[in-house]
Amino acid sequence: MRDGGVQYQFSNVLWFPTHSPKVAMCLLRALNVKLLARDLLMSIGVSDTDICVLCGSAEESVQHLFFVCPFSAYLWALCGLKLGILGSISTLQDEAMNIQSRFKIKTNICVLAKHILSAAVWHIWKRRISEYSNYRSRTTFWCLGSYMRILDCC
Ligand SMILES: [Zn+2]
Repeated sequence: MRDGGVQYQFSNVLWFPTHSPKVAMCLLRALNVKLLARDLLMSIGVSDTDICVLCGSAEESVQHLFFVCPFSAYLWALCGLKLGILGSISTLQDEAMNIQSRFKIKTNICVLAKHILSAAVWHIWKRRISEYSNYRSRTTFWCLGSYMRILDCC
């Protein structure tokens, strides 16, 4: 018999009837800092650089990727305007707590706020994955070109 266990603190932000499971899983991984930014990928030898693929001007950490990067900051500003929330977001956890405390009553605006939070995280991460894949393709192409030039010299 199950005792109900301990409820995850952001469970009502993650799991609600109209939410897409794959978007919820992305938000869950982001809230638990399980999405690997380039600073971590470089530290384990998976990436050759830690420069942000979205802006190309700063180290790509989770904090930079989701809040400081101009692409993300613009997206959050648009989301804040839509919800009538002014001010900046410091962490995803703070924003999830803000949504939970601000929109306690189950109304359409509450569901909209949850969708906007997860959609913003999903969009930023998908854009990052897309740009990273393009970068990896360019790098692979560049490496192959370099190898071909080296072989031509031999
Ligand atoms: Zn950036």
